[in-house]
Amino acid sequence: MDAADLRLIADKKHDLLEAAQEARKLAYAPYSKFRVGAALLLKWGEIILGANMENASYGGTVCAERTAIAKAMMRSTSLSVDEAASGRKVEAGDIIAVAVASDLEGSCSPCGFCRQVIREFCSVHTRVLMVGRNWSRQSAQSATGTAPSSQQQQQQQQQVEDRQGKEFDEANVECVTLDYLLPMSFGPEDLDKPRHT
Ligand SMILES: [Zn+2]
Repeated sequence: MDAADLRLIADKKHDLLEAAQEARKLAYAPYSKFRVGAALLLKWGEIILGANMENASYGGTVCAERTAIAKAMMRSTSLSVDEAASGRKVEAGDIIAVAVASDLEGSCSPCGFCRQVIREFCSVHTRVLMVGRNWSRQSAQSATGTAPSSQQQQQQQQQVEDRQGKEFDEANVECVTLDYLLPMSFGPEDLDKPRHT
């Protein structure tokens, strides 16, 4: 997570949270009535949406975060198929922040499955931002009086790591690192370590 990533997260934070709120409207949740929206921020500023997709079998349900990640990782520049959604190819490490919004009053954090899937494709320093159903850009600004400057927001993002992975500065938004949600995690690189059979 370099300075450019932190600056981009700071600049796009409210766009990303709004996108997650909008994505929630696309949820297919007839069984749980628990809608969740997710939005991924890519290193070049693009945002990819996801929503939970439930299934009558229940076990076939896919969460919002995993829907968004599958959409992102399915991107390809190597196929000849003309897919409307196709754009720049997304590779592991290109997702620098994940926003989650749900129908709950307070924030809703990714489930264990989703934490592990985020871990597969993202740095442990990836930011996970969470808001409740009533969060809006306007409410965020009225809570602080004024919108924080870009530089202030970037400093806040840096403080997420300085404060052991959790931000406390902005009202009604929880911002943590993936490492905070999934400490001592197991990732793809662990499979490359020497092992004895
Ligand atoms: Zn999940």
